[in-house]
Amino acid sequence: MLTTLARLLDPLHGVPDATRQRFEDWYRQAAIPQIRYVAFLTMGLYLIYAAIEQNVETDQPFARFIVHALMVPGALLATGLLSFRPGRQTLMLGLLSCAPIVSVLSNLYFNFGSSRFALYAPEIYLNLMWTFAISGLTLKRAMATALVSLSAILLVTLEHSLTPGPQRLHLIWILASFSFGLLSAFLLEKAHKRMFLQQDSLELSASLDGLTGLWNRSRTEAFLADEQARANRYGTPFSVVLIDIDHFKHVNDTFGHAVGDSVLRQFATLLRENVRAVDKVGRFGGEEFLIVLPEIGSHQAVAAVQALRRRIQAFAFDTVERKTASFGIAEYRPGETLEALMARADKAMYRAKASGRDRVEAL
Ligand code: GH3
Ligand code: MG
Ligand code: MG
Repeated sequence: MLTTLARLLDPLHGVPDATRQRFEDWYRQAAIPQIRYVAFLTMGLYLIYAAIEQNVETDQPFARFIVHALMVPGALLATGLLSFRPGRQTLMLGLLSCAPIVSVLSNLYFNFGSSRFALYAPEIYLNLMWTFAISGLTLKRAMATALVSLSAILLVTLEHSLTPGPQRLHLIWILASFSFGLLSAFLLEKAHKRMFLQQDSLELSASLDGLTGLWNRSRTEAFLADEQARANRYGTPFSVVLIDIDHFKHVNDTFGHAVGDSVLRQFATLLRENVRAVDKVGRFGGEEFLIVLPEIGSHQAVAAVQALRRRIQAFAFDTVERKTASFGIAEYRPGETLEALMARADKAMYRAKASGRDRVEAL
């Protein structure tokens, strides 16, 4: 019940920290173009505002010019330009969070108490909506900024707004802009979280093998390519193990396809449980599997795979009891293609088959 409520408020409630972190990185990246366009547009609007103000306002024109034509547009220009610099995001978000507060404070300072306050107050209402729904700030950051602005507004205007008269309407506009803004930021962020989770689970299921739950062939090949890139860049070794179950056709022919499938699932579990967390176990096709062993040369790989082979040999599979497999190991040679690496693993595996099966060979 509580979990359902928490998940309703935050679709990421209860997900692993790493997933949340990936969401936050993705969300921040996705918001950057929005921040850029909004910053440049708002800067333009402030310059128009400043020009009109200079024409019609006689009270403190110089100070108004400094704030509305220089400070706020300057901060927005800097925000827009920083959005092109991936390394300066913290500064960009800092400026984006401060600019609305500066404009609210200066509005109150210049206009509150004058008879024209009602004409200037819309900037404050728009400002709250802008912070939440337009700026591109995350809900948390927008909330912090809007709460500072709201506190300042209430501190300055509340007493006046509570005295009988039409100035009381100010309170409803504040309430409306804050609550509309908050609601839209909340709903938007929730929708983004839902979308992210859906996309994440689609990506994961597109990477898994349906029968065994291991990585599928294309994902395994992607891991291989990553390892190759890492090895070429840092000179770290890695090895691959190609595994083929011995006389598997016999299982299907004697016990049926369903038993064959169940052996494949149990075999997959055995592989997964007997490798390190960093090793990637994939189903390469039918009853062939590939394990990518990062940071390991063929010598160490042979020892690890011999232990794995013995585990499989000793395991009691449902119905078929004993089942063995043949293993071909190849260590990556710097500069070689993945095709060449796989061809060696394949050759090693066939050598294991030819020398009697239930064997480990390395090439
Ligand atoms: P060897 O020791 O030479 O590898 O003999 P083998 O019988 O394992 O050789 P082969 O590669 O000819 O046989 C593989 C069999 O695996 C053939 C195919 O029917 C079966 N197979 C492939 N995919 C699946 C699957 O998803 N489920 C089941 N039950 N069988 C599968
Ligand atoms: Mg085969
Ligand atoms: Mg086989």
